[in-house]
Amino acid sequence: MRVYLDHNSTTPLREEARLRWLEAATAANPSSVHASGRRARALVDEARARVAAALAVHEDEIFFTSGATEANNLALFGVAEARGPRAGIVTTAVEHSSVLGPARELGQRGHPLALVGVDAQGLPDPEEVAAAVGPATALVSVTAANNEIGALPDLAAIGDQLTARGAPRPAFHSDAAQALGRIPLRLGDWGLDLASFSAHKLGGPVGVGILWRRKGFALRPRAFGGGQEQDLRPGTENVPGIAAAALALELAVREQREYATRTGELARGLWRELALRLPALRLLGPPIDSARRLPNTLCVLVPDTDGKVLVTRLDLSGLEASAGSACASGSVEPSHVLLALGLTRDEARAGLRLSLGRNTTHEECKRALELLHKALAPSRAT
Ligand code: PMP
Repeated sequence: MRVYLDHNSTTPLREEARLRWLEAATAANPSSVHASGRRARALVDEARARVAAALAVHEDEIFFTSGATEANNLALFGVAEARGPRAGIVTTAVEHSSVLGPARELGQRGHPLALVGVDAQGLPDPEEVAAAVGPATALVSVTAANNEIGALPDLAAIGDQLTARGAPRPAFHSDAAQALGRIPLRLGDWGLDLASFSAHKLGGPVGVGILWRRKGFALRPRAFGGGQEQDLRPGTENVPGIAAAALALELAVREQREYATRTGELARGLWRELALRLPALRLLGPPIDSARRLPNTLCVLVPDTDGKVLVTRLDLSGLEASAGSACASGSVEPSHVLLALGLTRDEARAGLRLSLGRNTTHEECKRALELLHKALAPSRAT
């Protein structure tokens, strides 16, 4: 039995979404005025309505993109370029590369950039985030859930701090690609103006993302063309992808509580057994029972090990896991997230991420435990 515990990299397309994709695969161009075009338009409209209802926001606040990477870029560049050449960005040291990348690029183009550090659990202090905001700050971007260690920053407290500073309040964005369907989201209550999502993290197809933009909020487009998506993200709509993504998102939100209970119980059980059998392992991020942790994610420090070598060895034995973020795989650099926790460069290369999915079973966790024990028990050299 092979065991896939890499659901934060991508989680399999769910059957309902696959069928919806196939139904819409032959759709016409939604901009065409003929009947086929109108049918395609209806599919996109219906998908937008589903997403808006699931997120408890307005339909015209939903913009379909090619993924969370594009949504994050649109949020950061869109705000910075709408607010002028000196508009500043505040973000954290543990953001996904699709936030840090555009933030650094904007920094190089002259936009002041502040990277707020995190504590040993990977959480930014809301007061420190607010203290980094200056009069020129246009945007604050803080992830809702870290993809490597599963830390859940207190977005409500950060939103309150930003409001408490008084006017002008910077825009507040969150990369919620790993949060949607896994924890309850309260976009409005958290004081957010923008949030990014990715369909392939929640059982939808790869290549579909969503940017939620609070109504009336000014963003400059990154691409110019045919006027689709209110001129903010032009280009012929990916009708089958959008239809499938919307269904997967709706189901993921509906099943969120069940998902969290199920993956949480399995992940906690797996960690307790691992810690018992291999006491040298260290759990990174918030403590196992913390409410500030993604239920499905375990990031484990395996002392004196190269995480990438370990992942290859585990793969050969039948366990698919990841060393830190899959997006950075292939790189020999230690994880920037683990470095930000205060780990040494060697320690930051020794992370192993196990991320569970909605269909992960108890038997799979038991098998994973056996394979990890075999790979890591001190007697392995004999
Ligand atoms: N943000 C986070 C937190 C992620 O985990 C990922 C995917 N690894 C992305 C953004 C990028 O999403 P996409 O693959 O849809 O571009």
